[in-house]
Amino acid sequence: MHNCIFCKIVNNELPSNKVYEDEDLLAFEDINPVAPVHILLIPKKHINSLAELSEKDYEVASRLLLVASKLGNEHCNNNGYRIVSNVGEDGGQEVNHLHLHILGGRSMTWPPG
Ligand code: 5GP
Ligand code: ZN
Repeated sequence: MHNCIFCKIVNNELPSNKVYEDEDLLAFEDINPVAPVHILLIPKKHINSLAELSEKDYEVASRLLLVASKLGNEHCNNNGYRIVSNVGEDGGQEVNHLHLHILGGRSMTWPPG
């Protein structure tokens, strides 16, 4: 999508530190990490947010979760991690391209702010 930062990262128009890539998904390090491990996992196809997932996204949505599990397990040494997806204004979403935050490497607190 025009002017979407994450679409530009998918298209290599912006640099990123990639940690995983396949035909449908891309994961890269967050530019402003809030934990020792902070990976963003996105579908390559532009979807605004989880709120806009539809039945036709079934396969990519399930693969997103499976790869999130794999990346969390690999990068967080099986010590646990947190998967977050901010949705819309109240959810604190800043980049309107669906992404999962994979956070780990430290103990998390609850509830989030
Ligand atoms: P949101 O608030 O939308 O859930 O999170 C967006 C995330 O994208 C933030 O954690 C922010 O640091 C990250 N981010 C924003 N712009 C870029 C960028 O150009 N490159 C990378 N690697 N991360 C970005
Ligand atoms: Zn996009």
